[in-house]
Amino acid sequence: MRSLVAGGAGFIGSHLCDALLARGDEVVCIDNLCTGRRDNVDHLAWHPRFALVERDVVEPLPPLPAVDAVFHLASPASPPRYRDRAVETLRVNAEGTRRLLALAEEHGAAFVLASTSEVYGDPLVHPQPETYRGNVSTTGPRSMYDEGKRYAEALTVAWARQRGVRAAIARIFNTYGPRMDPDDGRVVPNFIAQALHEEPMTVYGDGAQTRSLCHVSDTVAGLVALAAHATMDPPVVNLGTRDERKVREIAEIVRSCAESRSRIVRVDAPVGDDPRRRRPDITRARSLLGWTPRVPLEAGLRDTVAWYRERIHGREGARHGARRHAPPRPARA
Ligand code: NAD
Ligand code: UDP
Repeated sequence: MRSLVAGGAGFIGSHLCDALLARGDEVVCIDNLCTGRRDNVDHLAWHPRFALVERDVVEPLPPLPAVDAVFHLASPASPPRYRDRAVETLRVNAEGTRRLLALAEEHGAAFVLASTSEVYGDPLVHPQPETYRGNVSTTGPRSMYDEGKRYAEALTVAWARQRGVRAAIARIFNTYGPRMDPDDGRVVPNFIAQALHEEPMTVYGDGAQTRSLCHVSDTVAGLVALAAHATMDPPVVNLGTRDERKVREIAEIVRSCAESRSRIVRVDAPVGDDPRRRRPDITRARSLLGWTPRVPLEAGLRDTVAWYRERIHGREGARHGARRHAPPRPARA
């Protein structure tokens, strides 16, 4: 098998590259590094079955070897990042998806789209099954991402049904773990960096909004399993955990995992339209893929805190006692 991972130098994409290499695939990672980092795949640089192609998937693709599977994860994913790259986010989900579908068609490859729970918007149905059509604003502060992904889903289904590409759509719910960019503004990297620096931990709003956090190893296992179920009538499958927590509770767990004395403070959210509740119905993932998430939240967060601690201490050690880095600040909180 040869797999192409678009967005493979990002957080989830780099773990997917690792998993595909571990099962024996050749992996071509294509990424323009706009929100990803070369660091994430540095450990693969000399791997004989891995290649990194630094390219924007919105632009014509370079000649590529024949591939059996195309995983499309290329897109900014954190609210501040997609807000700041609004047009780029719409383009990579529209034109980028079109180019990657055409590539899958040309190579007879399976196509897997990394979609999102954001297609449900601020859901009026709870938990969210795949049949729920969502409550999304076409012009709101998250619209570039939510509508970009909804279009990407529609294009994937159209291409599969009309042009015979085997495809599948994963609606990924909040995923966390090592290699999440500490500066990307999402909840887990923000809280961990703040806790490790003994800085105030910024809960947006009243902190009563909920998320269900899934460890990246589980999300990646779901993506790999889903690829084997790609068909011309693409399955749409939620990937996430049912372990729903309030954001202020997540702050407390992170603080405890990091053995920190940070204060937990309330600030205004920098990006509006914050969904109040989010939890997947994963009945379909269980029955179609035999998939359920395995990593409990506290264990996954401890593992993630350890990764950040090592990274921060490594960086600070290298600066020989120079003043500590300021913690990553959520944009204009
Ligand atoms: P990430 O920002 O770490 O990874 C995205 C990668 O895509 C980055 O490496 C970035 O450089 C690359 N990319 C963006 N635009 C590109 C372009 N035009 N050409 C080539 N490469 C480009 O984010 P992530 O959290 O790893 O998310 C990966 C995918 O999963 C995204 O599509 C995201 O929408 C989806 N997703 C993630 C989550 C989550 O909780 N992490 C939840 C739902 C959906
Ligand atoms: N959040 C927070 N403090 C932060 C970052 C995020 O309270 O420093 C909240 C945010 O308002 C949302 C949840 O945590 O309710 C998840 O935010 P994230 O940006 O990680 O992803 P989202 O699920 O909103 O796409």
